[in-house]
Amino acid sequence: MNTHPILVAGAGIGALTFALAASRLGIETILIERRTKIEEIGAGIQLSPNASRILIQLGLGPALSRLSAEPERLHVRDGLTGTTLSSMPLGNAMREAYGAPYLTLHRADLQTILLDAIRGAANVRLAFGRRVTQFENTSSHLIVSTETSSGIETYHGSALVGADGLWSIIATCIGDQKKPRFSNNTAWRGTISRADWPTALPASETGLWLGPDAHIVHYPIRGGALMNIVAITADKTGEEGWNRPGDPAVLQKCFEAWSPSVRNALSSVPEWQIWSLYDTPPRPHWSKGNVTLLGDAAHPILPFLAQGAALAIEDAAILVREIIRSPHDLGRAFSAYETVRKPRAARVQAAAHQNASTFHATWPLSAARNFIMRRTDLMKRYAWLYGWHP
Ligand SMILES: Cc1cc2nc3c(=O)[nH]c(=O)nc-3n(C[C@H](O)[C@H](O)[C@H](O)COP(=O)(O)OP(=O)(O)OC[C@H]3O[C@@H](n4cnc5c(N)ncnc54)[C@H](O)[C@@H]3O)c2cc1C
Repeated sequence: MNTHPILVAGAGIGALTFALAASRLGIETILIERRTKIEEIGAGIQLSPNASRILIQLGLGPALSRLSAEPERLHVRDGLTGTTLSSMPLGNAMREAYGAPYLTLHRADLQTILLDAIRGAANVRLAFGRRVTQFENTSSHLIVSTETSSGIETYHGSALVGADGLWSIIATCIGDQKKPRFSNNTAWRGTISRADWPTALPASETGLWLGPDAHIVHYPIRGGALMNIVAITADKTGEEGWNRPGDPAVLQKCFEAWSPSVRNALSSVPEWQIWSLYDTPPRPHWSKGNVTLLGDAAHPILPFLAQGAALAIEDAAILVREIIRSPHDLGRAFSAYETVRKPRAARVQAAAHQNASTFHATWPLSAARNFIMRRTDLMKRYAWLYGWHP
């Protein structure tokens, strides 16, 4: 193994999982993150068995059970009428079918669980408040330049993993100049205490409501003490950024024709954060020599299948496996990783795009969608997705 650590741009869910998995096998990493601390307001995350199994194998099972919830079912409804279109058992049914749970939790809790595990590992260094700007290869290793509040800092490594998200600077540096495009969708995100959740809607399930130009997802988090709710609406203009406050009156207007029970849920949320959703076509190359991409940096995915973080976690497991297989040739390890991961990521991206076009269908396509949805066994349909093993 090269004597320099592996440098990682970013400390999101993908990077943290990679560093933890690497440290368990004695691989040294430095995570370079532009944020000074990790905080996530008003945002939950669903972790399907393909991802939860990896985190459990990394020893995070007890912490996950403490902080997550395990909904009983996914309940899909027509947003206008409130009638049931489909239902998929989660809870024990997922554990029995896939050997791992379907969990829902607050993002801040997931990041804290990962960070706590990493802080106990000797061979991971966290460098916060440093924005990666570029890298250069010397004959023996790689040098990454960062901007900090006190000037420029450089880091020396054997290789670089770009886990720096959708707007990845590393993807640009290795040759993909395409900028993400606004997807004409905006995500509204909020949380509400379980006590304030409208009693008409079961708090123990993941609810998915489909309607014209919008959909809504809600599920319990923090062991069921909080409910997370996300509304995705069609929009003409986007704005880069996270945690812009959203005006509840604008949201209510978007859903004024929807079923009263889901409108009640929306109106009970005290604060909304909005986020414009951007997308990029699949990247042609993820790796160049001793540099590779992971997570959203490699394959951004619209949140119509709840799989972006899951894919990043899967990437992390496979990348570490390939590094262990070719420890003296990281270029070879990265290219093997890309070969294994590309078809999987492309299939998940395509499935999310398909949902994006059907979830928001207007009449008469919505009638066809509902007809098909009523006859679809979701457990069978997504066996390829949730049953994935590293
Ligand atoms: C509304 C919504 C709901 C979602 N729900 C789910 C869900 O239920 N389940 C699921 O699996 N996925 C979900 N996703 C997708 C998921 O959030 C992302 O796919 C996931 O966070 C990607 O993780 P990542 O580590 O690749 O990137 P990110 O989480 O984007 O992390 C990238 C990190 O890199 C840092 N960074 C960026 N540039 C630099 C730089 N130049 N230098 C240093 N650091 C840098 C950033 O600050 C950030 O910390 C959802 C997404 C949205 C928008």
